[in-house]
Amino acid sequence: MTDSTPQHHRLIILGSGPAGLTAALYSARANLEPLVLEGAQPGGQLTITTDVENYPGFPEGIMGPELVDIMRQQSQRFGSIHRYEVAEEVVLETRPYRIRTDTAEYSCDALIIATGATAKQIGLESEAELMGYGVSACATCDGFFFRDKEVAIVGGGDTAMEEAIFLTRFASKVTVVHRRDELRASKILQDRALANDKIEFAWNRQVVEILGNKKDGVSGARLESTVGEEEVTLPCEGVFIAIGHRPNTELFAEVLTTNEVGYLVVDEPTTRTAREGVFAAGDVMDPSYRQAVTAAGSGCKAALDAERWLELQE
Ligand SMILES: Cc1cc2nc3c(=O)[nH]c(=O)nc-3n(C[C@H](O)[C@H](O)[C@H](O)COP(=O)(O)OP(=O)(O)OC[C@H]3O[C@@H](n4cnc5c(N)ncnc54)[C@H](O)[C@@H]3O)c2cc1C
Repeated sequence: MTDSTPQHHRLIILGSGPAGLTAALYSARANLEPLVLEGAQPGGQLTITTDVENYPGFPEGIMGPELVDIMRQQSQRFGSIHRYEVAEEVVLETRPYRIRTDTAEYSCDALIIATGATAKQIGLESEAELMGYGVSACATCDGFFFRDKEVAIVGGGDTAMEEAIFLTRFASKVTVVHRRDELRASKILQDRALANDKIEFAWNRQVVEILGNKKDGVSGARLESTVGEEEVTLPCEGVFIAIGHRPNTELFAEVLTTNEVGYLVVDEPTTRTAREGVFAAGDVMDPSYRQAVTAAGSGCKAALDAERWLELQE
């Protein structure tokens, strides 16, 4: 941080996914004129998907980017201020709290952290291109689109097994593609997955390319062997990536309490973190649900918590 006087705001919100934008709406309507630092992915994870069919209020569904755009417009109507900046340093040891972004410095009385989580990806060009067009990072969100279709799921942990089992409600066949010949998932989930007639396993295999195009969707996946066997092509119409999530908490790891896998810990049922006036909402504090509507719900709670806390300071 420099010695220059930072711009002061009563409330700053880090992140502009459903959690940050809902916190912005509520706090703007409470006349707090929140500053939203939108980060490197304005609108958050929903901007990399297409149809969202499980956000209440949209009987026909809505495209992910459109949903977050209208959330932003709704909060701006009540006076939230939005900057397309990324927080690079946060000082929470002294008050007012200070935030340095890529272009400016700010201070605030209260802070809402809604920096979300990032679904880990394999890192293939075809995966990035077809995300939302047959490739998905969320079975709960997208399983419904694959009724009577064959799909693949990549991963061998608890989430991958839960998602594979969930997907059998819709898909005609689910192939779990796993780099090794044994799963990391807990015994109970392994047993359930192994006993499920609709689930097959491609052991010692990794996806090297997802085949298809944006117009027609996915048609298959090229699977390389990790033990020197021949490459095969798995025909499928969907590929679910379930290799984990990384909460975006690097900035706070030293100053706030995180759980064993890096998610911010809050004083449930509130959104209070271990530091006075600092609240957390959305996927950054939620390893379990990770849905737009749950993120929005906790964004609402964080705004109400911040508003009440600020009132007590006056
Ligand atoms: C492909 C895909 C499809 C999905 N489909 C659905 C669906 O159909 N229905 C559903 O309910 N859920 C869906 N989800 C899950 C849903 O997108 C998330 O649960 C939700 O977006 C979480 O919201 P959030 O506000 O907590 O965080 P995110 O949406 O992750 O947003 C995080 C925000 O924090 C910002 N940020 C991060 N670091 C910084 C920083 N240092 N400084 C400032 N800002 C920062 C980012 O720019 C971003 O704006 C899907 C997810 C994916 C990946």
